[in-house]
Amino acid sequence: MSLPEKLLDEAVELFRGLLRIDTTNPPGRERAAAEYLADSLARDGLDAKLLEPEKDRTSLVARLKGDGSKPPLLLTAHLDVVAAEPARWRHPPFSAVVEDGWIYGRGAVDMKNMAAMSAMVLKALRREGAALRRDVIFAAVADEEAGCDKGSRFLVDHHAELVRAEFALGEIGGFTQELNGVRLYPIQVAQKGMVWLKARVEGTPGHGSMPREDNAVLGLSASLARLGPGALPVHPTKAARSFIGAVARAQPLAARLLLPLLLRPSLADRLLSRLPDRGVARAMNAILRNTVSPTVLRAGEKTNVIPSFAEAQLDGRTLPGQSPEDLLRELRAVLGEKVHLEVLNSMEPVEAPTDTPLFTALSKAVREMDPQGIAVPSVIPGFTDAGPLSRLGTTYYGFSPICFPPSPRVSFSDLYHGDDERIPVEGFKRGLIALYSTVRGWCSA
Ligand SMILES: [Zn+2]
Repeated sequence: MSLPEKLLDEAVELFRGLLRIDTTNPPGRERAAAEYLADSLARDGLDAKLLEPEKDRTSLVARLKGDGSKPPLLLTAHLDVVAAEPARWRHPPFSAVVEDGWIYGRGAVDMKNMAAMSAMVLKALRREGAALRRDVIFAAVADEEAGCDKGSRFLVDHHAELVRAEFALGEIGGFTQELNGVRLYPIQVAQKGMVWLKARVEGTPGHGSMPREDNAVLGLSASLARLGPGALPVHPTKAARSFIGAVARAQPLAARLLLPLLLRPSLADRLLSRLPDRGVARAMNAILRNTVSPTVLRAGEKTNVIPSFAEAQLDGRTLPGQSPEDLLRELRAVLGEKVHLEVLNSMEPVEAPTDTPLFTALSKAVREMDPQGIAVPSVIPGFTDAGPLSRLGTTYYGFSPICFPPSPRVSFSDLYHGDDERIPVEGFKRGLIALYSTVRGWCSA
């Protein structure tokens, strides 16, 4: 399936217009971007609802009706972006400059591309009067980068009927990730949970001139020093097995044999320490265990006063199937009894099945977009709108397709929240075709 060149060019211009709207979060102010998309949809007779929990923190929901004989499909993207430092960029981050076939802009891959593609899919289906059995819903949401509260979480809590769907396609996946010359396309099927914690140690206060063995700062720092990347046990979950299995099957012989050994708890750490690509090693480590990163420290006010307590904040992440209590139990075993732990905030992990006809359709779309491309079901260590949206019973897949050229070799992970965020014009167009044919096939079948 393809799309006329004229429509693809129109999509590029819609996308560039969206990139020019600064939706840096904080403060977000997604309204202008939501209105821009609503105007574009209206030109094709598509009504969009703009919804906001507070002024200018706007999400958009539009629906192209099917005959209702099958449940809806949701296309979703967030409209906010993370901050950019213009001095570090080749082109101003909100200028959408095109150079050598690449479009530059904050949000180019994370993820105004998906917002523009989804709007265009609705417009294209509307124009051709496609006979659909499923509604296609498009939700462009606010506030993902700051934790989803004013975007997808607000929609799920207050407007569930507008976004409830059987399946959703959104962040993160469908882009080229080269490993040992193999062109992989991760599709998010699981994401870790989040458990933010406070760790506190109490001690006896006193004068700094007379050191004490029960100094709270020493107690806390000794415990925290035990929290390296490999501190907590390895759990080879189903999601990790299917991801590592799929990546390994596509690899040259040595990697094909070695990668599955990561799933053996007794061998995992030895192998991780030997992976030459440290970025890959960190990503693999994160999908094999619950993790915790100390991020904030607080103790004492004066150089000559031993404080009565020391505190740290820990960013904990749990695997699918693991609860905050599981993480606390593992942490207590490492930190010892003197450290008091308190949960500050948490989000459940998410896991979707991969043995669905839609997942099969996504794998096929990847092969059509890139004949050498191989879809792999992936687990992501961070969180996305999949968290709130899955609470409605929706099966969420990360599929915002982009086809990156073999050269110049640019990696999605470097662009994601990075300087000079950009996307190849051709790769964007091929992504749009892949998304359009998947949606059309899935919703009219
Ligand atoms: Zn994002």
